[in-house]
Amino acid sequence: MQKDRFKFRCIYCANCCSDKKTIVNATYLDILRITKGLNLTFNEILEILGFYIYEKNFSNDFIKKMVIPPIITEKGNAFVGLLKKSTGACIFLDEKKKCKIYNLRPMFCRTFPFTFKVLNLRRSNLKINVQMFYAIKAKEYCKGISDNAPYISNKKWVKIGKKVVEELKENNKFIEIWNMNVKKGRIKPTAQNFIKTILKI
Ligand code: SF4
Ligand code: SF4
Repeated sequence: MQKDRFKFRCIYCANCCSDKKTIVNATYLDILRITKGLNLTFNEILEILGFYIYEKNFSNDFIKKMVIPPIITEKGNAFVGLLKKSTGACIFLDEKKKCKIYNLRPMFCRTFPFTFKVLNLRRSNLKINVQMFYAIKAKEYCKGISDNAPYISNKKWVKIGKKVVEELKENNKFIEIWNMNVKKGRIKPTAQNFIKTILKI
C-alpha cells in the first residue's frame, strides 16, 4: 500500500469544471452511462459531445503513453469529451456551479484531483497495483487541496484507481480498434459513426 498521504476535501469551487484549457474527457463507457441515464436520442448525444481536433502529429510512441489517445476523424486527430460553453465551462455545469449530471459524470470528474499510475499488472490473478498522485492541473487550481483539508483514505482511492485503470484499458482498446478500422477503410470516421459504434456495444 502506498505510504504517501494526501489531503483533500472538495469545496465545490467548480474550477475543475470551468478550466478553458482542460478537456472533460469522456470514455465510451461514460458516453453510454450518460446516454442511458439521461435517455438521450442519437442527436442529443451529438449535442453533448465535443470532438477536439488536435493539429499536432503525434508519434506512435507518444500516443501509447497518453492516458486517453486521440481518435482518427475526418477532420484530424481528436479527443472526445463533453462539450464546453463559450466560457470554457462544461455544458453540464449550472449557474450555481453544480453538476447537472453528478451521478452520471465522467470517470475523470470522479477521480479528480487524483491521477493513477499502474505499477504492475499480473494477468494470472488480475491483480493491479496502482500509485496515486495529485493531477498536475489539480495542483494549479483545486481549492480542495489545502493544509486544512483532512487526509483522504488511500485504501478507498486506490480501489477507485484500480477501477479507473481497468476502464481506461477497455476504452483504449476500443479506440485502437476504431483507429485500425478507419485506417483500413472499413469505416468513415465521422462523429455520427463514432457514436453509432459505441451504441452497438
Ligand atoms: S460533468 Fe459535471 S463534474 Fe464533470 S466537468 Fe461537467 S459539470 Fe463538472
Ligand atoms: S477544483 Fe477541486 S475543490 Fe474545486 S470542485 Fe474541483 S475537485 Fe472540488
